[in-house]
Amino acid sequence: MTIDDHPDRTSPEPRWRLLVLGGTAEARALAAAVTARPDVAVVSSLAGRVADPRLPVGEVRIGGFGGATGLARWLAAHRIDAVVDATHPYAARMRVSGIEAAAQAGVPHLRLERPGWTAQPGDRWHRVPDLAAAVAAVPTLGRRVLLTTGRQSLAAFVPLTGLWFLARVVDAPDDPVPAHVRLLRSRGPYTVDGETALIREHRIDVLVTKDSGGALTEAKLTAARRLGLPVLMIDRPAPATPPATVTTVDEAVRWLDRRLPTG
Ligand code: NAP
Repeated sequence: MTIDDHPDRTSPEPRWRLLVLGGTAEARALAAAVTARPDVAVVSSLAGRVADPRLPVGEVRIGGFGGATGLARWLAAHRIDAVVDATHPYAARMRVSGIEAAAQAGVPHLRLERPGWTAQPGDRWHRVPDLAAAVAAVPTLGRRVLLTTGRQSLAAFVPLTGLWFLARVVDAPDDPVPAHVRLLRSRGPYTVDGETALIREHRIDVLVTKDSGGALTEAKLTAARRLGLPVLMIDRPAPATPPATVTTVDEAVRWLDRRLPTG
């Protein structure tokens, strides 16, 4: 059941209503932490990009809102009291929409964003600012690429016909891929042993990744370090005006507590 199918407008008990913009482990953890409370009703929102998404507990709605204006309307129609944007660090459009919509609707807004990864001794990381820079740089680093930047970025690498790609994706892209790209459909978490075996099996000589952060997909970096592999790390998109941000679910819950009506 989604909230759009059955908006709860007749509940006799006035509860504080929180929208979590989701699609991450942190968003699911926040929904789980808040759903258990009697004083807050939480609705989680997913984009609907993944065919079989990991669903948070509690109410879920799926699909875009129609930009900031659409989201602002949705916030008003569903009497939302606060927004926590816990979308992925690379979901740059949703981040801007969330900030603008919350301002339009006059509700408090918080960004929950996990920290990026930190290079350790032995790492051979090459940081680039964006996807285009990664496409330009990868031929200088290797020939057999483990590409973990997701289905949406795959098309940018396809013109590099002199390289071979093992592209790890959750869902296959709509269009067929050419012969120099092999798809590996899978979803973390991953282990260091598993990532090491994968790199060896396919004779990978460079890893391309976003700086997603978090433990679920970090094993590839440890495996690359142990095998002496170069890593092409695409930096996070930086917002023009960073919103108020926390990095942990506990901090987001405390932020929420400070905003709840007392008594
Ligand atoms: P994006 O480029 O910032 O968003 C594109 C559009 O998708 C947004 O303008 C919005 O449509 C809709 N959308 C995005 N997140 C939504 C949400 N949580 N609820 C409702 N609508 C949402 O985002 P993206 O990079 O395509 O990522 C899509 C989703 O996948 C995000 O929710 C993110 O948390 C998750 N995810 C992304 C990545 C990644 O690497 N980008 C990795 C893991 C998970 P409208 O403008 O119509 O509202």
